[in-house]
Parts: sequence; C-alpha cells; structure tokens
Amino acid sequence: MAHALPEYVSDSSSDEEVAQPHSSKRLFANYIHRQKFGSLVEAKLEVHSQKSWYERRTVSHENDKRIYYDCKWSRKCPSKMMLIMPHTCSDVYQHVSDGDHNHELTPTGLPDATKQAVSELFLLGVTKPNAILKALRAKGVCTPPKKKLNHYLPKLRADNSKIQNLIKGYL
Ligand SMILES: [Zn+2]
Repeated sequence: MAHALPEYVSDSSSDEEVAQPHSSKRLFANYIHRQKFGSLVEAKLEVHSQKSWYERRTVSHENDKRIYYDCKWSRKCPSKMMLIMPHTCSDVYQHVSDGDHNHELTPTGLPDATKQAVSELFLLGVTKPNAILKALRAKGVCTPPKKKLNHYLPKLRADNSKIQNLIKGYL
C-alpha cells in the first residue's frame, strides 16, 4: 500500500512560502537520512556504538515520535542526530545533521573510535582532511574539528610509513 509508506519530506514547500530573510541557517540543524533500522533496540545499539551522542529528549509528533540527540561533547555543537519512529511501523530512521563539531573533542586528542576510523580510512588511501571528515560523517563516527585532524595526520603518516617499511623488509 503506497499510502502506508512513511514520508519525511518537509512540508515547507507548500504553496505560499516566500523566502524568509533568515540571517543564519545554522539556527536549524539540516538533517540528512543516514540509515534505517528494523527496531528501536537495533537503532539504540548502533547509536551506543557510535559513542558520539547524548540523548536529549523524545518528542511525539503527529506521524512519528522522535528522539533528539546532541553531540556528546557539547550541547551547543552543531553536530546533532535524531531517531524517527513512525507510528505506523517498527522501523527506525537515523538522521544526522550536516554540522561539523565546533569544539575540541577531548583535552588530550581524538576519541579512540575516531582514531581507529581515521587510520582505517588512511589505509584505504583516504588521506586528505576533507575526504576523511566526509567519510567519518558517512560512517556515523564523531567528526573531529579539522584543526585537530590536521595535527593527527602527520603522526598517522609517520606510523604508516613505518609499517610500510616493515612490510617491505619482509618481502
Ligand atoms: Zn560536537
């Protein structure tokens, strides 16, 4: 039944909308659909494993219920996430904002999950900061501020060439 499919198209395109003189788009998170889960348990397990989010509140809407998450590190950070649960089925949709973190993630450096993901990307040949940030966002990993990443990359590059040299030694 086509009409039973949940739709998440914003209704802001309806007839009379005139361009509003909003000075800053950043007041509103711009959410992008990332993935779909079969149940809330499944969704929550994945959210937990992403280690990036702090559950803020649950709000019921006409067609669904939404759980809003803030960046685990700072409530004011533009990096946001939400889970959408349509009333009509048990599916759960994860949407993430396209905002980057605007703060230091930890006093000492990058979270382990981020380091791990960055070094995996590095091995795959993704070595440019912007490409890395994009890939991290797509994977749902907490994205570091670019400055922090720029500090980390030379270290990773050095480690990596050490490993490459070791491998060559065995060939
Ligand atoms: Zn953040």
